[in-house]
Amino acid sequence: MSWNKCGAFVIVSYCVSGLGAWDHIVNMRCKPYNKMQVWDACSDALITFDKENLQDEMAYIVENDIIVAALTKQLHTLSDHVDVQYRTKVVKYTWPRPYQVSESIPWVQVNLANGKTIHTKLLIGADGPNSMVRREAGIPTVKWNYDQSAVVAVLHLSEPTENNVAWQRFLPTGPIAMLPLSDSESSLVWSTSHQHAEELLQLDEESFVDAINSAFWSNENHSELVETAGSVFRTALSVLMPDSGSARQLPPSVAGIGPKSRVMFPLGMGHATEYIRHRVALIGDAAHRVHPLAGQGANLGFGDVAYLTQILSQAAYNGKDLGAMQHLLEYETERQRHNLPMMAAIDLMKRMYSSNAAPMVLLRTFGLQATNALPPLKEQIMAYASK
Ligand SMILES: Cc1cc2nc3c(=O)[nH]c(=O)nc-3n(C[C@H](O)[C@H](O)[C@H](O)COP(=O)(O)OP(=O)(O)OC[C@H]3O[C@@H](n4cnc5c(N)ncnc54)[C@H](O)[C@@H]3O)c2cc1C
Repeated sequence: MSWNKCGAFVIVSYCVSGLGAWDHIVNMRCKPYNKMQVWDACSDALITFDKENLQDEMAYIVENDIIVAALTKQLHTLSDHVDVQYRTKVVKYTWPRPYQVSESIPWVQVNLANGKTIHTKLLIGADGPNSMVRREAGIPTVKWNYDQSAVVAVLHLSEPTENNVAWQRFLPTGPIAMLPLSDSESSLVWSTSHQHAEELLQLDEESFVDAINSAFWSNENHSELVETAGSVFRTALSVLMPDSGSARQLPPSVAGIGPKSRVMFPLGMGHATEYIRHRVALIGDAAHRVHPLAGQGANLGFGDVAYLTQILSQAAYNGKDLGAMQHLLEYETERQRHNLPMMAAIDLMKRMYSSNAAPMVLLRTFGLQATNALPPLKEQIMAYASK
């Protein structure tokens, strides 16, 4: 993973613990949170997920650099079995032909820019959204660019707090999220139009901080019609389900940003129609790329790693060929079954919240308020997101 890509990740999948890297992360820096508040800038609708609905911490926010450092440390302990080639890249793949083994090379051949050649029974393509493995293997991809870029930065809060809530507000231009990093720092992910993102990067620090505070606090997108309808619906829900729902909390205010921490990334969605070929498996963004609004991109990749590891361990235990289609198909079926509904839900949310037309705002206001009033449904959503 290119972990310097953005500040921090919401980690809800614990496959890093299976690799032994989690202990290193805990000894370095990570921040658990036990509540999440998501709300609409065009109405009073909100949804909260909190610890009362869950057994344990909801998730952790971990910085890229920390995850990379932890994984690298763990890799060093495996140096008898793992050979990492730093400061080079793959320049060519040569594929075997599955049913004419005698006429071609039996394994995948990988040529590196440093002149080395590697042969492998199974090539795992973890080379990101523009995957060369996917392209060279001829695997078709469904993809499109969103009309948004994400601006990320490290935020200094006005005063230290418990800082155990993840905040996300849907603005008509895109979602803005503030994720806890420590008692006094949070990570910003602000998805907005490309032009607005460019402008945000050009602002001086004070104006940038003002823009962030205003994005979280301002009610300029509220309309009387939606407010009245939303309030009637909320009252009706509270009569039907008196103990449901939860009170709105105000996010902390931001006082400054970390030096040189402002960066922007264009956003898009992509899905490989197949995750496998003979002796090839795709994982992570090489197989699927999503909008960051649900903090799921890296987590879906961790889920791929966890499941593929399980399948390959079983195959190795049974003395099977690791690159054979039989067990790779199991990986593809299981992961597509999980990833596709998640990707569809994320894309739908992106589209639903990109409009400030009154009928759409009303529809999502009712939907969000109704979901917020149903704790069992919220538990199911969280359970699915953490698989
Ligand atoms: C703004 C933003 C915020 C995000 N926030 C979250 C979040 O909160 N939670 C979350 O779970 N996800 C989040 N994501 C998604 C997350 O960044 C990605 O899902 C994740 O980085 C994908 O990891 P990957 O290793 O599959 O691909 P990448 O991170 O793209 O890594 C691919 C690697 O392969 C290398 N590579 C490519 N080609 C070659 C080659 N030919 N030879 C050698 N190496 C090669 C690249 O250099 C790179 O290091 C966010 C994304 C963005 C843009």
